[in-house]
Amino acid sequence: MTDIRERHPGGQPVRLDHAAFTYGSADMLFDADFPSSTITAVMGPSGSGKSTLLNLVAGFETPRKGRVLIGDSDVTALAPAERPVSMIFQENNLFAHLDVAKNVGLGRSPALRLTSDDRRAVADALARTGLSDKEHRLPRELSGGERQRVALARALVRDRPVLLLDEPFGSLGPALRQDMLDLLAGVQAERRMTVLFVTHQPEDARRLAQKIVFLEAGIVTAAGSTEEFFAGDGPEGFRRYVGSQS
Ligand code: ADP
Ligand code: MG
Repeated sequence: MTDIRERHPGGQPVRLDHAAFTYGSADMLFDADFPSSTITAVMGPSGSGKSTLLNLVAGFETPRKGRVLIGDSDVTALAPAERPVSMIFQENNLFAHLDVAKNVGLGRSPALRLTSDDRRAVADALARTGLSDKEHRLPRELSGGERQRVALARALVRDRPVLLLDEPFGSLGPALRQDMLDLLAGVQAERRMTVLFVTHQPEDARRLAQKIVFLEAGIVTAAGSTEEFFAGDGPEGFRRYVGSQS
């Protein structure tokens, strides 16, 4: 069997270099590093800029100043499709009129012209995410957790070095959320992609992430290892935030 690390691209480091962005009266300025092949939790109060930060990395937004770097490349001017990135949102990741296999196949070919290799990759990703028996279902015939598995399966067949998740399991109950976190952790351990994971749940970060980047009012106010954050003397803003969440 081929070593999985030979077949997949692994991760690439992501860096926001003084990337400035403005929405109306909200001024944001992000300076942050996301090490290659690690899971970083992006946390912070509602409105602090977590989604904007991910959108800048994905290319859905462009900074007015500063740069976005992935690996050795400056991707600031690249369109989303040209970046080595996949993104999963809280919901509405799927096309309602396409079945599970087709929604996953889109990760390989936007026109769904799939080679036999592509079909094999889709079948593998469905098996990996526990969806093999549901390939002909439409999104409305799935649970919320299953829909997010389909989105993850599509990210697997895209096989990009960077995976962005914006509160992907936020609408799921606690037990299901744990299953999804385990699945994500397992997949990341195999593929070694760089993961940026937005979550409101300190427990999710503690379980999954090696690093935390904490935002307040549009800037990074703390960044460091998960251990440091959860130590008794972790960053003050973060401790206040965790206190307010429980
Ligand atoms: P978070 O994901 O942390 O809740 P966002 O990145 O969505 O924060 O938002 C950051 C700031 O930008 C907030 O002040 C928010 O009100 C503002 N904002 C976000 N999206 C828009 C938009 N489409 N139009 C105007 N302001 C926006
Ligand atoms: Mg958000």
